[in-house]
Amino acid sequence: MSEVTPDIIELARRYLSQTFEMEGQGVALENLTREATLEALRAMPAESTDSGSGCQKSSSTGTRGGHSPGISDVEILEAKDFEVLSELVARCTRCSLHEERNRSVFGEGAIDARVVCVGEAPGAKEDETGRPFVGRAGQLLDRLLLSIGLPRETVYICNVLKSRPPRNRDPLPEEVEACSPYLIRQLDIIQPEVILAFGAFATRTLLQTKLALGRLRGRVHEYGGYPVVATYHPAALLRNPAWVRPTWEDLQIVRSMLDGDRAHA
Ligand code: SF4
Repeated sequence: MSEVTPDIIELARRYLSQTFEMEGQGVALENLTREATLEALRAMPAESTDSGSGCQKSSSTGTRGGHSPGISDVEILEAKDFEVLSELVARCTRCSLHEERNRSVFGEGAIDARVVCVGEAPGAKEDETGRPFVGRAGQLLDRLLLSIGLPRETVYICNVLKSRPPRNRDPLPEEVEACSPYLIRQLDIIQPEVILAFGAFATRTLLQTKLALGRLRGRVHEYGGYPVVATYHPAALLRNPAWVRPTWEDLQIVRSMLDGDRAHA
């Protein structure tokens, strides 16, 4: 077993925050392999990995939130399948959003999906039903996907956050940080050909930018080695029909990528 030194702890912390900036799973920071990093994290004292002292604190090893008992980044990143991962989400207290949620919203769809749709966070209907993208916006999403030959059940649909922010307020950075390992693991398991990001928040979060969605859509980006196409959120389309056309154009990019045309990349 590797000796757990402060350097390794720091590397592990950076590994966890940068996992998705690296391509491939076998190589980690500065020659520290993924396996060695996880082993080092496992070997660390429990108080360093499983407890915090405040809601917004972030431990050096990745358990955030301070709501006991915590779920560590290692548990999430090592979840062997969606069953295990969804159970973690269901009992997650890594950020304060668990306090007011009715149900967590893990995500749903095909485990072998070629496309993963990522939205911002559950809304009232999602919080009530435990399903992502339901209601009018969800119905519109279904139609948009069908327009490029993708029935809803053939894609995977989830959000950056798995619990609803009260009154649909914007997610806080610490909530995104606490919840991101779940999305990372979902993508790791599915290995999609394309990520379709819906809305400014999901797009900015995935791409780590503050640029307006209008400047990000219409081309292919990358998140953790996966191509990302950004477009307007279906709920926004309901309010702004003028955005239907550019959304349709973005979806055509996805279609052409699935068809093997990488000219947009
Ligand atoms: S939003 Fe994510 S990190 Fe926060 S409680 Fe829900 S599942 Fe856990």
